Amino acid sequence: MILIGLSASLDKSGDKHWEGLQQSRVNQAYVDSVLGAGGLPLLIPVMDKKEALRTALAACSGLILTGGQDMSPLHYGQEPEKGLGEVSEARDDYDLALYGLAKDMGLPIFGICRGMQVINVAEGGSLYQDLARESTFKLKHLQEAGRDQISHSVTLTPGSRLHDLLGDRIQVNSFHHQAIRDLAGGFRVSATSDDGVIEAMEALDMDKEKILAVQWHPEELTKTRPEMAALFGYFIQLCEKG
Ligand code: MN
Repeated sequence: MILIGLSASLDKSGDKHWEGLQQSRVNQAYVDSVLGAGGLPLLIPVMDKKEALRTALAACSGLILTGGQDMSPLHYGQEPEKGLGEVSEARDDYDLALYGLAKDMGLPIFGICRGMQVINVAEGGSLYQDLARESTFKLKHLQEAGRDQISHSVTLTPGSRLHDLLGDRIQVNSFHHQAIRDLAGGFRVSATSDDGVIEAMEALDMDKEKILAVQWHPEELTKTRPEMAALFGYFIQLCEKG
């Protein structure tokens, strides 16, 4: 089995025995989805030593950048606006270091939710800090239904790898209040919602840079929706090819 690195969240525990303690953690759905696609997930804890991150990635055949809090807008040249959520300097630094190292090593990279935003910002793009304050976007992107429930549709961009894999249109879950504003150079939009929010992106040359990302949470849907399991299967295949 090939090892797939999973980025961790740096969270304060709400469990009564560990109340307020910091934890490097990941939702179990990521673990189950990677395992289900034939990969062996390796949680890479939040660390500020680049050499340690490099060593962990050297053991991996691919990297998944997982979801979490907002990125600090300072990383894309903006000041924090009302509506920005919680940010973590430690996690921003860790995620940006992981992405840069994995890209330099030529590893396939799959960004999910925050992970997509990290990739876009690392590559010079920018974000909307809070979709609720952007009147052009009419759809509800922060659903109240459970994480394993779908909530809105997305249209895949003809000619993209994601379109080849998923077809013209699929339904997804949606747990984001931020989104990509300016797409980074070297990438194409591979899915949008009906109100024009960028819902997926991929490297323009996927043979050279195996980098793709989605704004929804496919890991919560792999047990019930074959197309979401196919997305993980596709990424694991990219990693196996190297
Ligand atoms: Mn959405």
